[in-house]
Amino acid sequence: MNALETQGLGIRFGAFQAVADVNLSLEPGARQALIGPNGAGKTTLINLLTGIYKPSSGSIRMNGQDITAMPADRRARQGLARTFQINTLFPSLTPLLSVVLAIHEREGQGATWWRPYRRSTAAFDEAHALLARLRLDALANLPVAELAYGKQRLLEIALALAARPRILLLDEPAAGVPEDESAELFDVIADLPQDISVLFIEHDMNLVFKFARRISVLVAGRILTEGTPAEIGRDPRVREVYLGT
Ligand code: ADP
Repeated sequence: MNALETQGLGIRFGAFQAVADVNLSLEPGARQALIGPNGAGKTTLINLLTGIYKPSSGSIRMNGQDITAMPADRRARQGLARTFQINTLFPSLTPLLSVVLAIHEREGQGATWWRPYRRSTAAFDEAHALLARLRLDALANLPVAELAYGKQRLLEIALALAARPRILLLDEPAAGVPEDESAELFDVIADLPQDISVLFIEHDMNLVFKFARRISVLVAGRILTEGTPAEIGRDPRVREVYLGT
């Protein structure tokens, strides 16, 4: 059974069909890239998957269950997590407290987080383990604002992971990150536990071809083709879209 699967998924904004007839599937443990030119509909598709947008047509299944009509917050509670293109962190908080907060949020203690956190060593232990997994443990107690940008993007992934997702949708996780840091960021993504399925949007083709095991190509709202990096690399239609040859 696929972790995530869409059938005939589409959305119109007025007369503009931003996403059309998309059949996309994400296998358990996937490391799948969603690529395509600017304006192809990649972020819109992620917004459909997470429930930010309601589709005009088609359906979405998560682990076999039809979630097309399920609100975004319930999808998140059922294991669908995402990160955004833009930074959503609190600059003066430390990575450790940021993750502890996210853990309390998952446990439904968000409103009074400071009260339980003082008592909860479990949340701190879990936060330390999560930061270590993302190679942020040495930075756990610095203000977020002092972290290099690539580390901040890793922290965003840590916050998404604090929800214990089964599916992780990453919207340009390396956007704005210097080249030497972006490879490390994708190393960490590749090493995430195998029970988490990952779909990521990425523009840097070197990163896509190095880290994706499958690639889906979206052009003008439609899936042009999908396959392994080797298959996509020799597909003349993809070359035409990207290189105009
Ligand atoms: P990508 O992520 O591939 O660059 P987007 O999903 O951001 O593309 O956008 C796809 C198209 O849909 C663009 O032409 C964009 O202007 C349009 N679009 C996205 N969201 C909306 C919206 N809420 N209302 C109207 N048009 C939108």
